[in-house]
Amino acid sequence: MQTVGRFAPSPSGRIHLGNILCSLLAWLSARQKGGQVILRIEDLDTARCPRRYAQQMEEDLRWLGLDWDMGPGTNGPHESYYQSERTELYQMAREKLEEMGLVYPCFCTRGELHAASAPHRSDGQVLYAGTCRNLTAEEIAEKVKTRSPALRLRVPEETWGFTDGHMGDYAENLARDCGDFLLRRSDGMFAYQLAVVVDDAAMGVTEVVRGADLLDSTPRQLYLYHLLDLNPPSFYHVPLLLASDGRRLSKRDADAGLDDLRPRCRAEEILGKLAYLAGFNPSAEPRSAERLLSDFDWEKVPKKDIRMPSRLF
Ligand code: GLU
Repeated sequence: MQTVGRFAPSPSGRIHLGNILCSLLAWLSARQKGGQVILRIEDLDTARCPRRYAQQMEEDLRWLGLDWDMGPGTNGPHESYYQSERTELYQMAREKLEEMGLVYPCFCTRGELHAASAPHRSDGQVLYAGTCRNLTAEEIAEKVKTRSPALRLRVPEETWGFTDGHMGDYAENLARDCGDFLLRRSDGMFAYQLAVVVDDAAMGVTEVVRGADLLDSTPRQLYLYHLLDLNPPSFYHVPLLLASDGRRLSKRDADAGLDDLRPRCRAEEILGKLAYLAGFNPSAEPRSAERLLSDFDWEKVPKKDIRMPSRLF
């Protein structure tokens, strides 16, 4: 089976070094197997992800030499490659889950969800308390008059696990560790968890390479693959790149963004240094993505988050 990898950035700002490292790893992992690469733009939140940011991201990825076979500008078979234009597919998946009786409307406000009494996961995230799980048809009819609901998926007391290609075994109990999760927000926006599963399956993706912050989303996604009768890809979760003080990089870190770096660095310098930090460039010498292929090996990539030195460029 031919490998189909992908990068799936959310264009809520200019691409930063963390996104670049992740895209580089996805590109190398697929290309090394002679596979194809898809670029999918995860712009479900159209207010935060205007098209001009997506276009800038596409341009930056091209400049970096991280090319794609299917995606914006390629006339690939899966038009569109922008999630904001694929809502019909998400709607179909939603209907299928509804027919299975697994979806219910949730009227909880942000305040209610984040109340101090709400149960929490071990990582501090709020676990849905199940407040709207068993509303009667009358209660729903009454509530709908004043508030449009979000939609949640009812999850069972089941443990879903997998072997990550990089991080090893990982499992969560859906009810205890995840809780009933959102499929659609109250403003009608489909949730990442649903969209990513529908798209990766529809686009024939066979391997997903993405940040370790999404490791704990994977059991939920595997459950969706199962319910929707779709084949899951293999997963590789990659360490996050941290700022020199240990904070997670964000699009606000000017020194880690291409706004600052592109005018004064070559693409090969950026990729060479990132690959060095990630263990598969023997020195910090500039190297193109193509030239990194020969040394790339998942075994060399650390499992722990990578802290950047203070003066990298
Ligand atoms: N759009 C997500 C991000 O930019 C990545 C989602 C994924 O790779 O599954 O973090």
